[in-house]
Amino acid sequence: MRRAGVRRPSNQIGIGWAGPTLIHAGSEAQKERYLRPLLAAEEIWCQLFSEPGAGSDLAALSTRAVRDGDEWVVNGQKVWTSFAHMASLGILLARTDPDVPKHSGISYFICPMDAPGVTVRPIVDMTGDHAFNEVFLDDVRLSADHLVGEVNGGWALAKVTLGNERVSLSGEGALWGQGPTMGDLVDLVRRAGGTSDRILRQRLMRVWVEGEILRLIRLRTVSAALAGRAPGPEASVRKALADDHGQHVMEVAKDLSGAYGMTDSGPVEALMARAGAAASSGSPGASDDMADPKGHSWPPMIWSHGYLFARALTIGGGTSEVQRNIIAERVLGLPSS
Ligand SMILES: Cc1cc2nc3c(=O)[nH]c(=O)nc-3n(C[C@H](O)[C@H](O)[C@H](O)COP(=O)(O)OP(=O)(O)OC[C@H]3O[C@@H](n4cnc5c(N)ncnc54)[C@H](O)[C@@H]3O)c2cc1C
Repeated sequence: MRRAGVRRPSNQIGIGWAGPTLIHAGSEAQKERYLRPLLAAEEIWCQLFSEPGAGSDLAALSTRAVRDGDEWVVNGQKVWTSFAHMASLGILLARTDPDVPKHSGISYFICPMDAPGVTVRPIVDMTGDHAFNEVFLDDVRLSADHLVGEVNGGWALAKVTLGNERVSLSGEGALWGQGPTMGDLVDLVRRAGGTSDRILRQRLMRVWVEGEILRLIRLRTVSAALAGRAPGPEASVRKALADDHGQHVMEVAKDLSGAYGMTDSGPVEALMARAGAAASSGSPGASDDMADPKGHSWPPMIWSHGYLFARALTIGGGTSEVQRNIIAERVLGLPSS
């Protein structure tokens, strides 16, 4: 799609992890209602999982859903909720039985983001972007058909969601599949007229080799999917490696970008708009470095933004430490932490 210049529908959480979970466990009525607008990106989805006291240890979540007749009444707080401010729907984990072991008392819901009692507050990250939010749930009433799967069966579905999330977040492209590829990095070197700095050249080759290894590991994930197998620990292996790789790519790019690599680039939408406007006006005032006249998806000034965002890679979607715990336990068979 990238090579053909086709934009994929912009609904990463919907297509990447809510959709596969609904296909796995949703009722026929839920599939009928939600899947088509999800795929067409007519309804944007967000993920209401993390809480102030439950991130890596997600099963410790304390948002409660209490049955009241035909409805569930939800109270609690979620945090780091990407795209909540633009989403119509969220996949929501809530505790439905506090008296059983923590993994056994969680249920999985669909939450309309315009339901009375849902409050979304922005969090601005260090790139200057507003991508994630705090979400407060105060007496939010969900009718029974918003439950996905069985009551108290939510943890098994959360694992389906998280497995698919890891696959989605480890696509080709350094920033969770959304960012530059090794080709863009090599292009950056060419545009700078090459580099005679031997150390920089070695670092460049090192990240290129990493990129090739990741490409080959990804083929395993793809072939498993083609064979109808659910994402397994190989998605954790790839995510753990890809997140570090993304940071290495961005560090090399920052150094190659010279002064641009040190500037505070500001929100990415504004940068892309400026780059696009300068490129299309062809005005002599717009310097070639800034304007990106060839229409590259990663003009130089975007790289410093990506460098700052790359810190998030080893945290979001399960931290690198947690991925390594999963690999240790499920691949190497070591005792659980
Ligand atoms: C850009 C971004 C977008 C996000 N979007 C969403 C979203 O849309 N929806 C959502 O629900 N969440 C989202 N998150 C939240 C993300 O899932 C959590 O940040 C992540 O799971 C870590 O949880 P935490 O922040 O509470 O850190 P903690 O769990 O408090 O971890 C703190 C530190 O302790 C380490 N640690 C914790 N437990 C262990 C252990 N057992 N062994 C070794 N080390 C450990 C961690 O690796 C980390 O370094 C997003 C995060 C980011 C960065």
